[in-house]
Amino acid sequence: MRFGVHVGIGGNFPKKTIEQAREAGCQCIQIFAGNPRGWRRTPYDVRAWQEFKELRAQHGIFPVLIHSSYLVNLTTANRTLHKNSTLLVAHDLEVAARGGIEYVNTHLGSYGGQTRAQGLARVSKTIATLIGAAKPGPMLLLENSAGAGNLCGGTMEELGEILRRVDDARVGVCLDTAHAWASGYDIQDQKGVDGFMDDVGTHIGFKRVRALHLNDTKVALGAKRDLHWHVAQGRIGTKGFRALLHRPEFADVAVICETPKSIEEDRMNLRTARRLAGVRQPRTKG
Ligand SMILES: [Zn+2]
Ligand SMILES: [Zn+2]
Repeated sequence: MRFGVHVGIGGNFPKKTIEQAREAGCQCIQIFAGNPRGWRRTPYDVRAWQEFKELRAQHGIFPVLIHSSYLVNLTTANRTLHKNSTLLVAHDLEVAARGGIEYVNTHLGSYGGQTRAQGLARVSKTIATLIGAAKPGPMLLLENSAGAGNLCGGTMEELGEILRRVDDARVGVCLDTAHAWASGYDIQDQKGVDGFMDDVGTHIGFKRVRALHLNDTKVALGAKRDLHWHVAQGRIGTKGFRALLHRPEFADVAVICETPKSIEEDRMNLRTARRLAGVRQPRTKG
């Protein structure tokens, strides 16, 4: 298990990004490859991504996840939205392939006015096309959703169904604990975590699970609201996270906190996560 947080790319990329990762005590990180609330992407900056690669190697930061834009909707029947979404994820996969980045993580979007069957067919075909066209290297990770409204991917069954249809070893899963809770998985204690893990094993298989978004939340179980809070300070709590982080199936995953941010808060969340996982705390810089 490697631990890290989501790090910004604003300002002096990649120097500042790596600097912040080291200050927080990250072994792995997640970044955006552009504005997470926009469609526009800047051309690939060969020098910056090369420097990022070198700095990562120098400081042992791996793996890296690129989180695609929040606007992405690969399930929608709206042609323009679907096209823009596909182009954006393809762009992020291209950046990942060229920059030696291991994973692109994406949300699946929502069904809109379609039936579930139509949406599942569309999203599966879209993902198969995207990964089929991607250059060698990165894996595409599908993130479970909080299940609000018509969101796709709120259950392990649904993610499993998509994985089966896509049938490509380069597609995996990133499990977000706050989303799982909000969509109704009661992971606040050992028994609840055992049940959740049974579901993941049955429908997805742990070979596919490459990352954990380690977020707590204050929303009620099954509230279908996506609100992140500090690790072990919300409803999932100490018992839930300790049980999750002790599962041997997660031994090789990248654990990423997407919690409210400052260097101090990042350090706190990573300290908590490592303590609950029972692993050694690294020396942090600064
Ligand atoms: Zn996400
Ligand atoms: Zn997440």
